[in-house]
Amino acid sequence: MASDAEASSPGSVSFDFMPRTRLVFGVNAVERVGELAAELSAKRVLLVTDPGIVSAGHAGRVIQLLERQNLKVVCFDQVEENPSTHCVERCVDVARLLNIDTIVGLGGGSSMDTAKGCNFILTNGGQMKDYWGIGKAKLPMLPLIAIPTTGGTGSECQSFALITDNQTHQKMACGDPKAAARIAILDPALTLSQPPQVTACSGIDAIAHAVETAVTKRRTPFSSLFSREAFRLTVAGLPRVLAAPGDVDARGKMLLGAALAGIAIENSMLGAAHSAANPLTAHFGTAHGKAVGLMLPHIVRFNSSDALSAQVYRDLALVAGICSSSDAPDVASEKLAGHLEGLLDLARLPRSLTDCGAHNGDLTRLAEEACGQWTAQFNPRTLTTEDFRGLYARALS
Ligand SMILES: [Zn+2]
Repeated sequence: MASDAEASSPGSVSFDFMPRTRLVFGVNAVERVGELAAELSAKRVLLVTDPGIVSAGHAGRVIQLLERQNLKVVCFDQVEENPSTHCVERCVDVARLLNIDTIVGLGGGSSMDTAKGCNFILTNGGQMKDYWGIGKAKLPMLPLIAIPTTGGTGSECQSFALITDNQTHQKMACGDPKAAARIAILDPALTLSQPPQVTACSGIDAIAHAVETAVTKRRTPFSSLFSREAFRLTVAGLPRVLAAPGDVDARGKMLLGAALAGIAIENSMLGAAHSAANPLTAHFGTAHGKAVGLMLPHIVRFNSSDALSAQVYRDLALVAGICSSSDAPDVASEKLAGHLEGLLDLARLPRSLTDCGAHNGDLTRLAEEACGQWTAQFNPRTLTTEDFRGLYARALS
C-alpha cells in the first residue's frame, strides 16, 4: 500500500518550508518568559489576554515574571471571543500608551489573533481590512511571544489573525509571515485551567486541523509529517484529558499536538469541515470546535471517494491504531469517521445540526455561504453548493 508521501506525488509538489516559530515546551516553561523576552531585546511589553485568564491568575504571573526582568509591561485584558476590529483598535490604544517594542499573547486563539491584529496596525498603520489576505504588511513587525492556555487552535504556530469586521461581519483571515510568533511557550500546566467545555471544543478542533490538513490540495510531504503526528497525539490525548482533567502528561500531548497541527495549517491550509462550520458559527453562534467537529465525519466520508484522500485517511487511522494494516482505504476511512463520531460522544459534543438550532429551511443559505468560504478551495474534492447542502442534510438527520 502506498504511503501518504508516495500518494502526494512529490515529483509534482513544490513547497517553501520555513519554521518561523521557536518552540519552548515543558511544564512550567512559562517561567522563562522574562528571559526569552529579554533575548528579543524587549524593554516595553504589551500583554494581550482575556478576563478569564486574568481570573485564573496566569496574567498576573506573566506580568510578574516580565517585571522581574526589569521590563515595563502594559496589559490589554479585554480580548473577546472571535475578536472584532473594535477589539483590535482598543488593544492598539493600550499599546500606544507605552510605545511598546514587544508583544506577548496569552490565552486561546482569540488572544493570539488580537495580538497579531494589533501588531499589524501598530507597525504598518491603516485598518485591519488592509491586511485581509496574505503578505500585505510592508514594514517589519514587532516580535511576538505566544503562550497558549488551550490545546488548542495552534494559532501560536501560524501567521494568520482571524478578525471579524464590525461593519460587514466578515471574518477576515489576515496573514503575513512577519506576523508569526517569534517564540511560542508551550506549558502544559497552563492548560489545566481550561473549563471542561473548552477542553472538549478546542481538543476536537485540534483533531480536525490534523485531519483536514492531511488531505488538502496544498499538502506537502513536510505538512503531512505534522498532520500525522498531531493526529496521533491528539486522538490519544483527548479521551485522557476528558476523563482526568488534571493529567498533565495528557495535557502536554494535546498542547503539542495542537501546535503541530498549527504548523500543518501554516503549510497546508484547511478544508471543507471548516468551510461548513463557519456559517454555523455566524448564524447560530455555534462554538467553532463544536461546529467543526459536527461536520468533520461527514466531510471524511465525502472525501474518501477520492482514492488519494482515502489512502491518507488510512495512514492517519493506522498511526493512531484505529484500523489494522489489512484494512483497505475505504474501510479504514469509515473506521476513521466512526472513531471521530465516538470522540464527539465522549466529549459530549453534538452530532446533529438540530442541536445548533438549524432547520431544513436553513440548509440552502448555509450551503451557499459554505461554498464561498476561503478554505473550501483547498479541500481535496471540489464541492458545489449542492454538495454542501447534501452534507448539511446528512448532519441534520
Ligand atoms: Zn479550527
